[in-house]
Amino acid sequence: MATAAISPPQVSDQKMLIDGKWVQSASGKTFETLYPATGDTICRVAEGDTADVDRAVQAARRAFESRAWGSMDAAGRGRLLYKLADLIEANAEELAALETLDNGKPISDSLHIDIPGAAAVYRYYAGWADKIHGKTLPVSGPFAAYTRHEPVGVVGQIIPWNFPALMQAWKWGPALACGCTIVLKPAEQTPLTALRIGELAMEAGFPEGVVNVVPGFGPTAGAALVAHPDVDKVAFTGSTEVGQEIMRRAADSNLKRVTLELGGKSPNIIFADADVERAAAFAYSALFFNMGQCCCAGSRLFVEDSIHDEVLEAITSRAKKQRIGDPFDRQTTQGPQVSQEQYEKILGYIDSGKSAGARCVTGGSKLDRAGYFIEPTVFDEVKDDMKIAQEEIFGPVLCALRFKDVDEVIRRGNKTMYGLAAAVWTRDIEKANRAAAGLRAGTVWINCYDVFDAAVPFGGFKMSGLGRELGEYGLQNYLEVKAVVTALGG
Ligand code: ADP
Repeated sequence: MATAAISPPQVSDQKMLIDGKWVQSASGKTFETLYPATGDTICRVAEGDTADVDRAVQAARRAFESRAWGSMDAAGRGRLLYKLADLIEANAEELAALETLDNGKPISDSLHIDIPGAAAVYRYYAGWADKIHGKTLPVSGPFAAYTRHEPVGVVGQIIPWNFPALMQAWKWGPALACGCTIVLKPAEQTPLTALRIGELAMEAGFPEGVVNVVPGFGPTAGAALVAHPDVDKVAFTGSTEVGQEIMRRAADSNLKRVTLELGGKSPNIIFADADVERAAAFAYSALFFNMGQCCCAGSRLFVEDSIHDEVLEAITSRAKKQRIGDPFDRQTTQGPQVSQEQYEKILGYIDSGKSAGARCVTGGSKLDRAGYFIEPTVFDEVKDDMKIAQEEIFGPVLCALRFKDVDEVIRRGNKTMYGLAAAVWTRDIEKANRAAAGLRAGTVWINCYDVFDAAVPFGGFKMSGLGRELGEYGLQNYLEVKAVVTALGG
């Protein structure tokens, strides 16, 4: 494993990828992307809008109908995905540096989590490409019936800024395995790795127009993609509010298929009979990993009364040891928040927690330095109905709540509009499984947290989303089922 220092790379101004070519936006407009640790401009990026989205959708449609892609063997699609995974690994340091520069996350995370995680997802779906098939069905009468699982067509994909390369992999892997073509809009805060991975996809040999990357803003480029009548499906990861807007617009345009991976307010529940030291260590990273910018963050920490003080103390002492600062320093464990907007929003939630009467046991302020740095903050004595216990903060702010028994904590754990993830810590297998069954969430971790695997589906109950990504389930988002019935005569 490389241990040499990785420095912030020099990045030149970026064009967009349409039909295998690097082009400026039709309007000639560009926007700047910033380094969150200083607020300085990294480079300017071509700013996509309706005309660019339209060009990209037309290219994706042509590619979908082309011999080069439409008639490619399924195994051929798999080979291209394996190649892309290999190229991502071969360029891992460069991609990790770009991710850290654009997002602000610590380089050790980009290098050991985000980029290898993305390569693993492409490789997993490469293996699926030639294993996607329909069924033969027993039918009444002189007929034979079978189903074909066909690609849904041209897909629009809109991703957020918290795990840019990983979210791109979650979207591109299954779509390409199924034979779809793609127009991707990366988040305006973090377009750089998406563009570089687009370039690697061309190098891998994906035919022109199969993947297109159009950077730009949500209400313009994003909305144009969602409203486009020739896009068959939209896959979105982001806020619940924007997810609702996307579903409305998709319905109004052409009833395109929609999958959504949205917000969360996940309960992380520690029972008194857990391995308390381990549970407290994980409770810390469940929230503070990636500066709290995770949709599945364990943001409501429920601690059983009798171990409350012990757990809170362990978490507080970890918060004090956090190494906050230069994201390119390999020892750094906490970088800046992604943007000024997020930074201010989080500070607003901290004020709200204080004025609602929650007890701020550590942190609670911004850092006195350039960049969007916030102290790791822990609120104790949080009540279920406080704003900080109900709304997604998406920052380094942990809310601790007390409970007494299993049924109570399941009921309270479910008391939000979200249902993305949950975790329970106990050595009692009955209690663990009772809680796992009772918690209304797409993922329940037992005695662990944030364990992701390309094979394991992820997604939300309730207002945390629609559909599942990853695993075999993730393929369903990109397939239409066609029934073929043949008369046998006689
Ligand atoms: P966040 O608040 O965390 O930035 P958003 O849901 O606003 O999350 O953004 C996630 C992604 O959705 C980004 O790529 C953003 O540009 C895009 N987006 C935002 N608003 C819209 C919209 N109205 N239509 C389509 N995409 C949008």
